[in-house]
Amino acid sequence: MSELKKCPFCNEEAESLICTCRTKQNSEGMTIIASSIECLNCGASGPQAYAIDEVSAREDAAYTWNDRGGSSNE
Ligand SMILES: [Zn+2]
Repeated sequence: MSELKKCPFCNEEAESLICTCRTKQNSEGMTIIASSIECLNCGASGPQAYAIDEVSAREDAAYTWNDRGGSSNE
């Protein structure tokens, strides 16, 4: 998994961040994985990412977390 940035809300180091995965079914009855990064320190969670396999879902969740926590000067 990609390295996670610090929590943008409480500035907690990445060791306190966990990646949660839930199995869901989409409207076509296909099993998908919903994954998001959560901060154990302040309870914040990143946007959910959806993918058909857990590895991709975790990667996407990490990506969106880092994207939000990063600089906004792009
Ligand atoms: Zn936090």
